[in-house]
Amino acid sequence: MPRSKTFIKSIKVDEAQRAHCCQHIPSHRILRGEKRLKLKVGRTYEHFCPVCALKIIEADIQRLQNIKEQLLQQS
Ligand SMILES: [Zn+2]
Repeated sequence: MPRSKTFIKSIKVDEAQRAHCCQHIPSHRILRGEKRLKLKVGRTYEHFCPVCALKIIEADIQRLQNIKEQLLQQS
Protein backbone atom coordinates (compact mmCIF):
# COMPACT_ATOMS: atom_id res chain seq x y z
CA MET A 1 0.00 0.00 0.00
CA PRO A 2 1.42 3.42 -0.91
CA ARG A 3 1.46 5.96 1.86
CA SER A 4 -1.70 8.05 1.96
CA LYS A 5 -1.22 11.26 0.06
CA THR A 6 -2.80 14.66 0.64
CA PHE A 7 -3.43 17.73 -1.48
CA ILE A 8 -3.71 19.99 1.56
CA LYS A 9 -0.28 19.75 3.12
CA SER A 10 0.16 23.52 3.13
CA ILE A 11 -2.19 24.32 6.02
CA LYS A 12 -2.20 23.66 9.73
CA VAL A 13 -3.50 25.24 12.94
CA ASP A 14 -1.10 26.79 15.42
CA GLU A 15 -1.11 29.46 18.14
CA ALA A 16 0.02 33.03 17.66
CA GLN A 17 3.28 33.70 19.51
CA ARG A 18 2.43 37.41 19.55
CA ALA A 19 -0.56 39.56 18.60
CA HIS A 20 -0.83 40.42 14.90
CA CYS A 21 -3.35 41.15 12.15
CA CYS A 22 -5.19 38.55 10.10
CA GLN A 23 -3.71 38.47 6.59
CA HIS A 24 -7.09 38.24 4.90
CA ILE A 25 -8.83 41.15 6.64
CA PRO A 26 -6.24 43.34 8.39
CA SER A 27 -8.75 44.80 10.87
CA HIS A 28 -9.08 41.30 12.39
CA ARG A 29 -6.70 41.02 15.31
CA ILE A 30 -5.22 37.69 16.38
CA LEU A 31 -4.10 37.84 19.99
CA ARG A 32 -1.13 36.05 21.51
CA GLY A 33 -2.04 32.45 22.32
CA GLU A 34 -5.09 32.43 20.02
CA LYS A 35 -5.53 29.76 17.40
CA ARG A 36 -4.90 30.72 13.79
CA LEU A 37 -4.62 29.00 10.44
CA LYS A 38 -1.09 28.84 9.10
CA LEU A 39 -0.74 28.64 5.31
CA LYS A 40 2.58 27.85 3.68
CA VAL A 41 3.15 30.01 0.60
CA GLY A 42 6.44 29.13 -1.02
CA ARG A 43 9.04 29.64 1.69
CA THR A 44 6.92 31.93 3.85
CA TYR A 45 3.72 31.65 5.86
CA GLU A 46 0.47 33.58 5.95
CA HIS A 47 -1.78 33.55 9.00
CA PHE A 48 -5.55 33.86 9.19
CA CYS A 49 -7.96 34.36 12.06
CA PRO A 50 -10.47 31.54 12.71
CA VAL A 51 -13.39 33.55 11.22
CA CYS A 52 -11.62 34.04 7.87
CA ALA A 53 -10.06 30.57 7.93
CA LEU A 54 -13.46 28.90 8.39
CA LYS A 55 -14.96 30.91 5.50
CA ILE A 56 -12.07 29.96 3.22
CA ILE A 57 -12.29 26.31 4.31
CA GLU A 58 -16.05 26.27 3.51
CA ALA A 59 -15.30 27.61 0.02
CA ASP A 60 -12.52 25.05 -0.37
CA ILE A 61 -14.88 22.22 0.62
CA GLN A 62 -17.22 23.37 -2.19
CA ARG A 63 -14.26 23.46 -4.55
CA LEU A 64 -13.17 19.96 -3.55
CA GLN A 65 -16.74 18.73 -3.99
CA ASN A 66 -16.76 20.24 -7.47
CA ILE A 67 -13.42 18.64 -8.38
CA LYS A 68 -14.68 15.32 -7.05
CA GLU A 69 -17.80 15.56 -9.22
CA GLN A 70 -15.69 16.39 -12.27
CA LEU A 71 -13.56 13.30 -11.67
CA LEU A 72 -16.62 11.10 -11.18
CA GLN A 73 -18.33 12.32 -14.35
CA GLN A 74 -18.29 9.97 -17.28
CA SER A 75 -16.87 11.62 -20.34
ZN1 LIG B 1 -9.61 37.40 9.57
